[in-house]
Parts: sequence; structure tokens; C-alpha cells
Amino acid sequence: MNVPAIAKSTFELLKNQPEFSSITQTIIKSLKKIKNNFEKARFIHNVVDEYNKEVFSHPLLMEFVPCKSGCSACCHTQVSVTTEEAELLIHHIDNGVDINYELLSLQSEAQNNAENYYKLSYQERACVFLSEKGACKVYKDRPSVCRTNAVIGEASQCATNTSGPGPQRLVKTSKADMAIVGAYCVTAESGALPYMLAKLLKERNQLENINALQSLVNKLKNKKSESNNRLNNSKNVFKDPQI
Ligand code: SF4
Repeated sequence: MNVPAIAKSTFELLKNQPEFSSITQTIIKSLKKIKNNFEKARFIHNVVDEYNKEVFSHPLLMEFVPCKSGCSACCHTQVSVTTEEAELLIHHIDNGVDINYELLSLQSEAQNNAENYYKLSYQERACVFLSEKGACKVYKDRPSVCRTNAVIGEASQCATNTSGPGPQRLVKTSKADMAIVGAYCVTAESGALPYMLAKLLKERNQLENINALQSLVNKLKNKKSESNNRLNNSKNVFKDPQI
């Protein structure tokens, strides 16, 4: 289980406080009842958004949060996803969201290893869903961890164009973090976004190949039985004395 680092440290800090640990437990129970993976992903996204509303509705805090559309430093860090979130992202690709497959392949080579990931250049670390204008192409269905990324202070403190995340002060999203841990407890697999995406796409291609082969075999079988039928009919023609 690859729980995102920030959510994990929040969990370690608060797991003995019933007010917080009950959030994780409730999420686990609720997610187990949902069968559809897209619904599961969107359920946890809604929960995270609701908890974030409590945090980000504070006007004083928002005066010190410089995050805005087009500022994409956090989209150059290693983002984690659950299986359900990766499937939801693939659904967007299926529906026309364009991604850079070369970049995806390069980033997925780092697998879940943060050290290898941060050996890539800043440009090479750009999330494959990041548009040229620095906006998220899947904003409504962006992963849970992307929803909790916000910094306090100067935007420049957030720069990730050197060797990974800088010493920025993140806004504490404790309740959302506890909910995220719940989602990671019940998912089949989790890991870095590029790695999970590439893995699922590869598995699906294999499946498509198997399906294509199966349909080819069926077509060949049908052709063979059609030609057998024709052969039998022609034999009957020669046998029939009336013709
Ligand atoms: S999914 Fe969207 S918000 Fe998350 S890292 Fe990628 S571009 Fe950024």
C-alpha cells in the first residue's frame, strides 16, 4: 500500500484521536459498499472537497494562499493515485483527453520510487494531464492528493524546478488526509500516477489483443464452417440424379 507521504504523516500523528480516526474508519466502511470504481473515486473526491471547504473558507488563511490557475509547481511532483482514480483518469483519455505518451513512459520508469522520479528534469516531471497553459485537463476528476495541495506564503517558496519539492509550508488538511488514508486502505493497488496509469493501459492493451485474437479465431471458425457447408451442398448437387 503506497499511501501518499503527507496523508500518511497526518495519519500517524492523529490516528489515536477518535475524532480523526473515525474519519478513516467511516471512509473504509462506505467505500466497501460502493461497487463501481468511478463512483468510489468520485465519492472520496467529494469527501475531500467537503473537508477542504471547512479549511479554505477561512478568509484570513486565503489571504496567504497564493495558489491560482496556471501555477503548476505541485503538478511537477510525484502524485499518488488509487486504482479507482487511475481508472477514472483512463476513462478521460478514452473520452478524448490528450496526453503525452512519451512523457508517460519516461515517468513510469521511475515506478513508485521518488528518488528516481526527481532525477528527471522539471519539464520531464510535468504531469501528463497538465496543459500547455499550466491547467489541469481533468480538474473535476483530479486525484484526491491534488485537491489538498495548497501552500501558505510566497508562490516562489513552492518552486519545484530544482530537485523536487522545496521547503514550502502546506496548508494543513488533516480531515481530508485521514479520509484519503481510508481510500488507500481499501483500494486494490496504489502508486505514482504515471506508473499506475501506464500499468493499467498496458494490461488493457493485452486484454484488447486477447479479444482481437478471439474474434479472429471465431471469424476463421465461421469461415471454415461456411466453406464446409458449401462443400457438402455441392456434393449433394452431384449426388442428386434429378439435376
Ligand atoms: S492530475 Fe491535474 S492537478 Fe493533479 S498533478 Fe496532474 S495536472 Fe496537476
